[in-house]
Amino acid sequence: MGTGMLTIDLGALVRNWQALDAISGAHVETAAVVKANGYGLGAGEVANALANAGARVFFVATAEEGAALRHALGAGPDIRVLAGHMEGDTALIRDHGLTPMLNSAAQFHRHQNALPGHPYGIQLDTGMNRLGIEPGDWGEMRATIAPDAPVLVMSHLACADEPLHGQNTAQLEEFTAMTEGMDCPRSLSATGGILLGPQFHFDMTRPGVGMYGGLPFEAAEPVVRVSLPVIQTRELSPGETVGYGASWTADETVQIATVSGGYADGLIRRMSNNARLFAGDVACPLAGRVSMDLLTVDVSHLGEVPDALDILCPHQTVDQLAERAGTIGYEILTQLSQRYTRRYVAPDA
Ligand SMILES: *Cc1c(COP(=O)(O)O)cnc(C)c1O
Repeated sequence: MGTGMLTIDLGALVRNWQALDAISGAHVETAAVVKANGYGLGAGEVANALANAGARVFFVATAEEGAALRHALGAGPDIRVLAGHMEGDTALIRDHGLTPMLNSAAQFHRHQNALPGHPYGIQLDTGMNRLGIEPGDWGEMRATIAPDAPVLVMSHLACADEPLHGQNTAQLEEFTAMTEGMDCPRSLSATGGILLGPQFHFDMTRPGVGMYGGLPFEAAEPVVRVSLPVIQTRELSPGETVGYGASWTADETVQIATVSGGYADGLIRRMSNNARLFAGDVACPLAGRVSMDLLTVDVSHLGEVPDALDILCPHQTVDQLAERAGTIGYEILTQLSQRYTRRYVAPDA
């Protein structure tokens, strides 16, 4: 088979969610963020594994994602839409039983007019300046909203992956002030905020990346493995070059393996001459530029070239690979292509 293999360990995913649930505390509900197709890993598979482990609330980015997730999960779990109630979303929200997190007075009025009595939450902007109702507008709006009417009031931290950043406590104070007197569940923290301590947890936490094995949850178990088949191997003499732009030159006699996988698979070009692949425990450097479907790897030091080399594995996590490519683990995960053959390892396997 010439296609790379993406193995997704749903058992590790569930254990990561359970660990974040334990840190969140006994009286706090731990939701699960499965936007962007479950950070690229398959929202349906991911959410079903988490639902079986006890997760009851799922967050997606858009109503379209919510509809697809409802189809995968069936009736029962609570599906919440971070983009809120956009124009054109009404039928999706009604027909699939989605709960929009309303981000503005305009969204609030759209929701009240289109679907009176349909559940909603409120997203507040406490300083990230991205989504949510701003303090000034909220001051006017909240007089018109019964304190127990929303299913949730939430906000999002901008700097939670930097525990000492002053904006964390500033947003905590703003959130506490803005939600004072509300009589509904409150939520401020994603993965990073869970790790900042109990004062950030309120009634519900919303982990995403940590479940998928990414930083800032350092204790996370790796969830993904990407194995790329070796198509052929060749010997180069000193002075010969490899790949587009001839950017890598052999300074001695070397063995180069060409493997199936490239920037079309989310193995971005910035990894060129920088990332490594693994033959078991042994690191093998990329030699030359990443091309669309192929990588070239220096395997000179291997006694025997295996049938496949790993680019994501316990020796090179999504964050370690991201660092070699000048990006973050979130981007590596969500760019993993649909071309891989996907294999899910069931939690009880
Ligand atoms: C993406 C997102 C999350 C999850 O964030 P992680 O850092 O992946 O844990 C939680 N809440 C909101 C509003 C988000 O946009």
